[in-house]
Amino acid sequence: MIENPHRRLPSVHQVLEDPAAAALVERYGRGAVKEAVRSELDHRRQSPPPSADGQADLLDAVALRLHAQDFHGIRRVINATGVILHTNLGRAPLARTAADAAREAAAGYVNLEIDLTTGQRANRQEPCRDLIRRLLGCESATVVNNCAAATVLTLHALAACREVVVSRGQLVEIGGGFRIPEVMTASGAILREVGTTNITRAADFEAAISERTAAILRVHPSNFRIHGHAAAPDIAELAAIGRAHGLPVIDDIGSGALVDFAQFDLGGEPRPAESLAAGADLVLFSGDKLLGGPQTGIIAGRQELIEKIERDPLMRAFRLDKMCLAALEATLRLYLKADETFAAVPVLQLLSVSVDELHRRAETIAQELPNEWGATVRDDVTFVGGGSLPDQTLPTVVIAMRHPAGDAEFARRLRCGDPAVLPRVKAGEVVIDLRSVPAADDTRLMAALGGIDSAL
Ligand SMILES: *Cc1c(COP(=O)(O)O)cnc(C)c1O
Repeated sequence: MIENPHRRLPSVHQVLEDPAAAALVERYGRGAVKEAVRSELDHRRQSPPPSADGQADLLDAVALRLHAQDFHGIRRVINATGVILHTNLGRAPLARTAADAAREAAAGYVNLEIDLTTGQRANRQEPCRDLIRRLLGCESATVVNNCAAATVLTLHALAACREVVVSRGQLVEIGGGFRIPEVMTASGAILREVGTTNITRAADFEAAISERTAAILRVHPSNFRIHGHAAAPDIAELAAIGRAHGLPVIDDIGSGALVDFAQFDLGGEPRPAESLAAGADLVLFSGDKLLGGPQTGIIAGRQELIEKIERDPLMRAFRLDKMCLAALEATLRLYLKADETFAAVPVLQLLSVSVDELHRRAETIAQELPNEWGATVRDDVTFVGGGSLPDQTLPTVVIAMRHPAGDAEFARRLRCGDPAVLPRVKAGEVVIDLRSVPAADDTRLMAALGGIDSAL
């Protein structure tokens, strides 16, 4: 008779009784260990390992499972990629006051929808609405989960089952495989594409307008640029067409630059206030790109349109929670005092650090590194990221290293270190780019680098 290999598997209880399991229980808690043992035993029941499996081997596998789970949770990392708005790393780091506001709101009750003076029901949008009106000089505003939500909601409220005219040159894929035309179609609006990839004229918009048209849309081609023979009507021209036909003009600008980035030699990013001044009826932008706040989407412009948007049932699905509202409000407040904004908003701070300062910090860190890593400090260039300013480089300073274990292994050790460090890897080198590292993190970065060879 052939012995059933599963009979040799211990029970969950037997494994937990093993003295060697005690350390795991101490570290991860009994519930988590029990769960991991059960998963591992289930796994072995379906596919018994080829070798005879002692309990020690089983506990090793359980430990690996627990370790992997531990690593899957969200944790702070040091962004040494040089890309300031790295979508995979959570885009903008929040200002201290914004992070504090979110933490305070998270930990207790807040006056989210209560007016404390009257005790009456209030609208959660009011504080941010008021700030955005002051900052942009617009009639009204409302905030939702992100700019994609702002697009879907706006089109659903203003153009469901009707046509929205948009240039073919602006149908962008924004990253992560998400395409603006597909996001827009999800709203129920019908895209009426006009013009060509490189040239769209005002006359193309005029010719496409009919009784089915509900709006005119412009999408900022955030993460790409067409050079050479290329043109599309600007927002003032579109606004004139919109006015002539009684149609709202919606400007999806993606990144919400509230300050002039020309001062960093980063020109060309549209600003919401300018778009509205040029005649857009609504402007849509993200809160966590160049604005430097939490993941949010801002819709600003004409009050009558904002009221219609807020009455849309999808508003309920896209509205912000207390933590994001608190963080956005605190971030926007930092823009009220222009002379303090730069020191307080981390994205602006990171952009404005001088190359000399980055050099000084890089030399200090490089001095501490083991000789065999061959660390060199040199000038380089990086990008803002987050779909902003795709063709404009930022000057930066990097520490380039070659580890005996190879670049992939070195990068892995950095990512799994304490704290985790995300470097750039290119051409056999692992590169620490300080453009995206706040100076306050230098000590933690050095500790992480110092622990690499002693780690795994
Ligand atoms: C980034 C971007 C979006 C999406 O913004 P999220 O806040 O990431 O949802 C939409 N439109 C444009 C033009 C963008 O650049």
